[in-house]
Amino acid sequence: MNLFALLDQTAARHADRGAVYRGEKLVHTWAQLRERALRIAASLRGLGPGARIAVASENRPEIVEVMFAIWAAEAVLVPVNAKLHPRETGQILADAGASLVFASPSIGADLAPVTTVPIEILDGPQYRSRLTAPAATAPRNTDPAALAWLFYTSGTTGRSKGAMLSHRNLMAMTVAHLADFDSPDSHLTLVHGAPMSHGSGLYVPPYVARGARQVVPASGAFDPTEFLDLCAIHPGCSAFLAPTMVARLVRTGRDRPANLHTIVYGGGPMYVDGLKAALAAFGPVFVQLYGQGEAPMTITGLRRADHLATDGWAADAVLGSVGYARSGVDVAVVGADGRPAPVGEVGEIVCRGDVVMAGYWNNPEATAATLRDGWLHTGDLGSFDDTGYLTLRDRSKDVVISGGSNIYPREVEEVLLEHPDVVEAGVVGAPDPEWGETVVAFVVGRASPGELDAHLLERIARFKRPKRYVYLDELPKNSYGKVLKRELRARLR
Ligand code: AMP
Repeated sequence: MNLFALLDQTAARHADRGAVYRGEKLVHTWAQLRERALRIAASLRGLGPGARIAVASENRPEIVEVMFAIWAAEAVLVPVNAKLHPRETGQILADAGASLVFASPSIGADLAPVTTVPIEILDGPQYRSRLTAPAATAPRNTDPAALAWLFYTSGTTGRSKGAMLSHRNLMAMTVAHLADFDSPDSHLTLVHGAPMSHGSGLYVPPYVARGARQVVPASGAFDPTEFLDLCAIHPGCSAFLAPTMVARLVRTGRDRPANLHTIVYGGGPMYVDGLKAALAAFGPVFVQLYGQGEAPMTITGLRRADHLATDGWAADAVLGSVGYARSGVDVAVVGADGRPAPVGEVGEIVCRGDVVMAGYWNNPEATAATLRDGWLHTGDLGSFDDTGYLTLRDRSKDVVISGGSNIYPREVEEVLLEHPDVVEAGVVGAPDPEWGETVVAFVVGRASPGELDAHLLERIARFKRPKRYVYLDELPKNSYGKVLKRELRARLR
């Protein structure tokens, strides 16, 4: 089993249809994309099966052909977040033992001083010379357990680790996506709004499998206006977006573009108020995923219909949940003793199934701590209700323990965001000699501490109220739009 087969089959069925677009413009048909991928693959095979080949670039059309070229060469794709500091990228290249890095011109220039790994500029002269080689034959006998993607985690807990994702893992993710969320065909489109090094790139296989266009915005980044314009031009547009990107779409004040089909949001908390605003603006086009690099895009999900009730939007408890187990995934919540927690009780979320990684690259300690008894321990806390909906609380390390009580920052953030004069909120624990920790809220918005206190006192228990408010112009986020709690905590030190 090799993911290249998805492109192979689509190119056979839809040879002359548009495959890859930069903005509005067609770049390659499916037949051309297949041919280019196999030519690049021929030139990569010399690096040997299992070679790690990194891609460090803003979103660009070449990323699609490079992905399939790497798989056709039975090598391993190592996508690197384009917004990392060159030193961090250098560390990932070293950790992965990369043989080569394909980079955009700007990232390539910054990387040169920090790595000895050969750098090749995407669409540069060396790259173009690969395209003159005779095409390789398509791979036929790849072991499904062979590595396809080394997914470096965002490193919110420290140094980034490489989750080893096999062809089987990504095929299981693909099948679950097609079964649960979106069933595209060759008249539909995947718009790469979010970084292709992460969620948007992971969605290339399901959309290529069905011959849906791959549209890379000309800016190479997420611009809400450009994104909405593309969804008016291309047919039936779907995209993966981080919740913060969805909020930016809503803030444009624009209506639903004619061809917007599905927005998959996830990878970080979507607060109920924000989700309702998005549903009001764009209608029932949303689905939510809960996943992590270790089980890519696929642990639980809230399907399109789950957002609706007969008389309007679904109840807040449903909209505030992360839905139920995805197709082919077992999900459980376990207590400190490792046994399943009763319904309603908070414990660690664990899962198993073909989507779960084989372990962390060259890191047996982290692997042993995370994969135990056949289950992936996510480090996320949550609880099930009696209908199987999972509500995520927080990452276990983000829970604030004050005077012996657990306070889930997300709950406090959710209530703060209900205040009309709060735009963003991030809650963390600050060390405190008396209480162990106290709750501190970082707030973007005009509401005063007195107003926020009054607002919270009407809605949640007194002990959960922040003891301090810190006002910022914007919360610090990584390039995937996740609020960096460790940076908020660092600001308190
Ligand atoms: P990453 O491996 O970088 O994709 O990060 C995965 C983590 O993001 C998960 O372990 C969760 O803590 C968080 N996350 C993913 N999806 C959601 C979601 N739908 N709601 C809230 N947090 C999420």
